Amino acid sequence: MDNLARPVARYDYRHQIGGAIGPLGARIADMLLCGDYILGAEVEHFEQGFADYLAAREVVGLNSGTDALILALLALGIGPGDEVITQANTFHATVAAICFVGATPVLVDADRQTCLIDIGALPDAITPRTRAIIPVHLFGKPTAMAPILELAARHDLVVIEDAAQAHGARIGEQRVGTFGAIGCFSFHPSKNLAAAGDAGAIATNDPDLAGKIRILRGLGQSGQNNHVAIGLNSKLDAIQAAVLNAKLGQLDGWNRERREIAHFYRTQLFDLPVTFQADNAGEEHVYHLFQLGCAQRDRLLDFLIGRSIEATVRYPVPIHLQPAFAVQGWQPGQFPVAEALAAQMLCLPLRPGMPEQERWHVVRSVRAFFEG
Ligand SMILES: *Cc1c(COP(=O)(O)O)cnc(C)c1O
Repeated sequence: MDNLARPVARYDYRHQIGGAIGPLGARIADMLLCGDYILGAEVEHFEQGFADYLAAREVVGLNSGTDALILALLALGIGPGDEVITQANTFHATVAAICFVGATPVLVDADRQTCLIDIGALPDAITPRTRAIIPVHLFGKPTAMAPILELAARHDLVVIEDAAQAHGARIGEQRVGTFGAIGCFSFHPSKNLAAAGDAGAIATNDPDLAGKIRILRGLGQSGQNNHVAIGLNSKLDAIQAAVLNAKLGQLDGWNRERREIAHFYRTQLFDLPVTFQADNAGEEHVYHLFQLGCAQRDRLLDFLIGRSIEATVRYPVPIHLQPAFAVQGWQPGQFPVAEALAAQMLCLPLRPGMPEQERWHVVRSVRAFFEG
């Protein structure tokens, strides 16, 4: 067994901050002393910088990715009586946001190969009450947007992208989060672009929607003491924006490194009885998570943890079996692919700055499990 100084971790914040700690620390100290706490220069700088990065017309900084989804739905006027379609194997927040605005979530099962929404099954989920589709670029893989946009146009539906796990992922040259009416991003510390706390944003090419969300994030205020809507208080924190500004320039390099490590895992493990999330030509998967599937998942998970590898499962209990959504009446067996993925997939640690020795330790450990 390899001699590792420390466990193979999923995150390395020291590496992410790197040489920026001096100037970033000084900037934050300055902000603390000057009272630059709410919106202001850092938030505006980040909104412009991330909009330029995405080639989106506008970005609006928010408190979290969950709020981005909620505010997107509110700005589009989606609420009680409306149905919103999303995928059965997503993270809790996508479906919670739909419920939170009073709309009805309609789940479509995942596709076994892509682990994304089963596009072939989408048309059957559309009813006269459907208002929106939320594809989720889950684990960093872009959802094929052309067929979804075509279907949405045909049925007069809006498309909101949940890009919380896919900052910088592309289809051709276009970044995800810019295909639909609104793209939703999270900068939770676990994500590819990470704040030092909760943070999120929406991207849009529609200035009216951006304007609505700016009003809704600030308690529905349009100018001092003039409240034109009932909104949330969900502004991107100024200090978080400073952290994001210090990191944004490195996102592409980090995503490239994520892809390199993923390529290494795939080529070193392809001959074992395991499956991977599809990685298709013409798109750029950014490997927020590296998914490995096998029949003995729980035993492999224990084995890897026993070898100091922080492997984990995302997500072990699918949406339709979570107590929070019992009121929806979903049944076990209703979304068999989502259930199979929940039972068979685990995530191998993958992070920018991961040393060669750790990459090999992960590969050798997975091989040791199967080869004894
Ligand atoms: C993280 C995440 C969210 C929610 O983002 P928060 O910033 O944690 O609120 C939404 N959707 C997906 C797919 C996510 O991974």
